[in-house]
Amino acid sequence: MKAVRKMDHGIGFVSCVDIPEPQIVRPDDIKIKVEYCGICGTDDHIVNHGLEPPRAPLPVPVTLGHEFSGTVVEVGPAVKNIKVGDRVTTGGLTGFCGRCYACIAGSIGGCATAKSIGYETDGAMAEYIVHEEPYTFKLPDNMSFEEGALIEPSAVACHAALEMTHISPTDTVIVMGAGPIGLLVMQFAKLTGAKVFVVDVSASKGKLELAKQLGADGVFENDTQNVVMEVLKMTGGRGVNVTFDCTSNPTCIDQAILMTCFGGQVTMVGTPGPEGYQLKRMLISFMKEQKLQNAFAHRVSTWPKAIRLIAEGKIKVAPLVSHKFKFEDCEKAFSFRDPMKIKVLMEP
Ligand SMILES: [Zn+2]
Ligand SMILES: [Zn+2]
Repeated sequence: MKAVRKMDHGIGFVSCVDIPEPQIVRPDDIKIKVEYCGICGTDDHIVNHGLEPPRAPLPVPVTLGHEFSGTVVEVGPAVKNIKVGDRVTTGGLTGFCGRCYACIAGSIGGCATAKSIGYETDGAMAEYIVHEEPYTFKLPDNMSFEEGALIEPSAVACHAALEMTHISPTDTVIVMGAGPIGLLVMQFAKLTGAKVFVVDVSASKGKLELAKQLGADGVFENDTQNVVMEVLKMTGGRGVNVTFDCTSNPTCIDQAILMTCFGGQVTMVGTPGPEGYQLKRMLISFMKEQKLQNAFAHRVSTWPKAIRLIAEGKIKVAPLVSHKFKFEDCEKAFSFRDPMKIKVLMEP
């Protein structure tokens, strides 16, 4: 079968190669024919910045991808709730023990044996993937495969906006970054009834325009405007209640601290690079007694919420799909530049 793989450590080394189809091994395994697999910021970091997992080196060659949708073609003998023909996606973690505290608490990412697909073990940018039943979710009938491939980033945004951050209907919220996660966090934050504004640079005008179409109350350009001053002016000098950083750029996080009010929340959704970063405005954050918090990935419980809200049309994911590429064109898919590049989907 065809698979998009990272062939070696370092920058680049992505190719579409022929590898054997994965087979059902564990009794609760299901085999899925992949329809679409999105390119995540993590995939981009792996290919274009040589990102390595924190626990062990990248197991090269490794098949990339964790944001996918597909159709079940085979199930193991112990599989109970999934049948051949079901349209599904998975939680992106495999090999979890199901018994440790993290697993029982629904934070499978904390399980010592769990591995992230497409990063610590083979992923979904392939014609087929085998995954265990317990962390597999059915797509509602009215959800397309394209939308199904965007459930994972939606779950990330849902976890950040509705589970890790407390937003009230009278709050004002800033989202830094109009990429796929920023546009999704904005939509989830809007569901609380708060006013939500999105910040990006003028080169991303098209994405900021899309943010408005998707419900943002307003946008700011971080190069043509003094965003901190504008936001303080807008809030009578007080600052906003909540800021989400969806950029992982320390300058943006420092701006978030300056724009957020006394006692407010700054939620970091962007993944820091391996070298980390230093924040210049920590003293100000400290003196404002802000809650600086991280929102990483999702919990098991996040998935049904994200799926339901997409199916109900309250979270719009289809407009985020900006480009589609065949597996064979993976090098181009990982390297092209376009100011309207939002979510790139790969298809076999
Ligand atoms: Zn992702
Ligand atoms: Zn476990």
